[in-house]
Amino acid sequence: MNLLQIAEPGSREPPTARRRAVGIDLGTTHSLVATVAEDGQVRLLADTAGEVLLPSAVHIGAEGGIAVGRAAAAAAAGAPATSFLSIKRYMGRGAADVPAAAVPYVLAAGEGPVRFVTPRGPLSPVEISAEILKVLRQRAQAALGGPLDGAVITVPAYFDDAQRQATRDAARLAGIEVLRLLNEPTAAAVAYGLDRGGEGLFAIYDLGGGTFDLSVLRLRRGVFEVLATAGDTALGGDDFDRCLADWLHAQAAEAGAPVPPGEAVRLRALARRAKEALSETEAVTVDCPTATGPLPVTITRESFGALTGELLARTLRLTRQALHEAGLTPAEVDGAVLVGGASRMPQVRAGVASLFDRPPLTDLDPDRVVALGAARQADLLIGNRGPHDYLLLDVLPLSLGIETMGGLVERIIPRNSTLPAMRAQHFTTFADGQRAMRLHVVQGERDLVADCRSLAHFELRGIPPMVAGAARIEVSFQVDADGLVSVSACEQTTGTRAEVQVKPAYGLTEAQITTMLADSLAHAEEDAAARALAEQRLAAEQVLQASRAALTADGDLLAGGEHEALTQAMARLQALLATDDAPAIAAAQQALERLTEPLAARRMDHHIGTALAGRHVRDLEG
Ligand code: ADP
Ligand code: MG
Repeated sequence: MNLLQIAEPGSREPPTARRRAVGIDLGTTHSLVATVAEDGQVRLLADTAGEVLLPSAVHIGAEGGIAVGRAAAAAAAGAPATSFLSIKRYMGRGAADVPAAAVPYVLAAGEGPVRFVTPRGPLSPVEISAEILKVLRQRAQAALGGPLDGAVITVPAYFDDAQRQATRDAARLAGIEVLRLLNEPTAAAVAYGLDRGGEGLFAIYDLGGGTFDLSVLRLRRGVFEVLATAGDTALGGDDFDRCLADWLHAQAAEAGAPVPPGEAVRLRALARRAKEALSETEAVTVDCPTATGPLPVTITRESFGALTGELLARTLRLTRQALHEAGLTPAEVDGAVLVGGASRMPQVRAGVASLFDRPPLTDLDPDRVVALGAARQADLLIGNRGPHDYLLLDVLPLSLGIETMGGLVERIIPRNSTLPAMRAQHFTTFADGQRAMRLHVVQGERDLVADCRSLAHFELRGIPPMVAGAARIEVSFQVDADGLVSVSACEQTTGTRAEVQVKPAYGLTEAQITTMLADSLAHAEEDAAARALAEQRLAAEQVLQASRAALTADGDLLAGGEHEALTQAMARLQALLATDDAPAIAAAQQALERLTEPLAARRMDHHIGTALAGRHVRDLEG
């Protein structure tokens, strides 16, 4: 219950209500939402099952139902074309940037932003990401007891204007007011309170599910500057899984019991679990699914380290390269911060420690640290803290400039300028009597326009006729705190002006956003119910599949009556799946899970030596 606040008589102002602000880490693999509680502590917000990590997965069902999170991730094996697992990779990308052969999705025809064919019609990465953000918004509203006032959303330091704009568009579609986009490495540094220390050089080593990012930050007078970034968008924890799965395949084949191709997805999931378990224990035994039943294969931490040594070495090479680019030696760095779930692997920690010759900061959970920092920023920006609190500033990730004669770029605002920024420069006409000037705004570090990203074109008309070189035209660039750009040009003698708000080529138009928002508001309730049903269906299908597999492999461990009860429960659940009755499906699923418990326990006892013992059958499936 909410109590109304009444000011004490005589006191001048009513107690100010705390405003509801959150930080969101919209990750490639996982997304999280956090907030600063009244006591000043940062808290991660969990779903109803107590999970704080939301897999960044969106599944569109055959009837158009949307599932987000765990259920959607699990659906990918069976329905890869409509299960979007790493949608962040396509944010701000055009159809031309995504080769059809490289994705398991069907690309919609046409130009502009890339769109994927789904049973709901073609969907853009912005729309798909918005589904993830909607779930986080609802989670936050449930936890904070009312509508959100604003959010800080994090993006990789190397995200360009189009990718940043796409992230903003996704937030708006999800009904979230974006206070600020914050660079992920900066957020991690903020979470550690490095911003309070005044000055320093920091290396942020972020090994996520599918990406590796290294950023070198310099903090000076409350401003974080990105000195260098390096990374590999195709190197992450997933590659360690793949490496281990390949090795398990080979071991099984050598033992004369190869893993059938149909079990590859399951083996990969088992490898991932084993990898994560090896961060805690010295050795793990994996039950490889083979045609002749489970084959236990043991792997030690040491042999896993050797197996994946080249992957780790690649991240360390990239780290050295970034330091070199920034003109720094590892010893000059004041602190290294570990970010990303995969940086939990002990060999990664050891590798980073030996490179910098000191242990990295690991006190905060590496897959949560970005959300924690974002929440601190959000709390500050929404005004929950006093005016004496620090205000963090960000910097421009890529230089901005305009095209000059010969296809060259004249840089107006260099990268790493503190935001907000404003800078002007004078230009003149090229031909006698020239009446108009065409301005081309570009972003990038290269000297040729062709190598930079085109942001906008606009024209300045009404220049009084003069000899070439006589006119004085001031072009000024403004970048707001989020890194969004506007450019104006002004002819000084007449005061003629032209202006453009840079809308990246793949951003949504105002009208598109308005329609989409109206649409999503009109269908909010329906959508929520449909999503709950879709997620419930998927979860039930997972349990059914797991039960079927367990029964086939080890049905003989059950007594006759148990066997029959299990088969009946499975049939009941299967039948309910054809209905829209989510609560009934949930109940039947739970009933089935209860029945599979004894089988799970007996399977474990039976296959002695498994280090994954004690988990439920469902946990052992992908
Ligand atoms: P992203 O930034 O891409 O969203 P995360 O930071 O959530 O990714 O990292 C996900 C990766 O971290 C996955 O590959 C996952 O297997 C791995 N991971 C999570 N926990 C552990 C652990 N305890 N040991 C090793 N790897 C882990
Ligand atoms: Mg991340």
